[in-house]
Amino acid sequence: MNAEKLYNSGVLTGTCKGAILPPKELWERKKGGLVVIECPQRIPCNPCHTSCPTGAVVEFKDINDQPEIDYEKCTGCAMCVAKCPGLACFVVDLTFSKEKALLKLPYELSPLPEKKETVSCLNRIGEVVTQGVVENITEPFKDSTKVLHVSIDKAFVDQVRSVRVVK
Ligand code: SF4
Ligand code: SF4
Repeated sequence: MNAEKLYNSGVLTGTCKGAILPPKELWERKKGGLVVIECPQRIPCNPCHTSCPTGAVVEFKDINDQPEIDYEKCTGCAMCVAKCPGLACFVVDLTFSKEKALLKLPYELSPLPEKKETVSCLNRIGEVVTQGVVENITEPFKDSTKVLHVSIDKAFVDQVRSVRVVK
């Protein structure tokens, strides 16, 4: 993890406490996907923990702690995706199909895409790296952040962190 790069640019360039990837073997077989949380700074915030129905986001000892995940308990339900105020949580389902992964991404912009619409998929610095298809749109909590389920080629799983809808 290049900490200097992260704190100077705001762009995460590797893994560190609060921003790790799921264990590969479990990730490749877990239907529904596993959460990825990219929240590496100590801030007073914990809705990722309080919204998680399974205890997969471990209880914080200190409100400023970075989140820790018990991946065996994660169901990919995306409740935390809708509740995280920093839009730092998303789910990656590697079992969606042989070639495609399903991302469950927070989305608070307008317009909302339609189901089956093609959207531009952006990396951490906002560059378009591929196209994806909106498979579903959910709202886990009433009047909360929407969650877009977007299928993309598996080759881009490590890069895509948001989408752009062009109407
Ligand atoms: S995806 Fe669901 S089960 Fe997994 S950490 Fe988030 S809220 Fe918990
Ligand atoms: S809710 Fe989001 S911003 Fe807050 S600690 Fe959890 S991951 Fe970080």
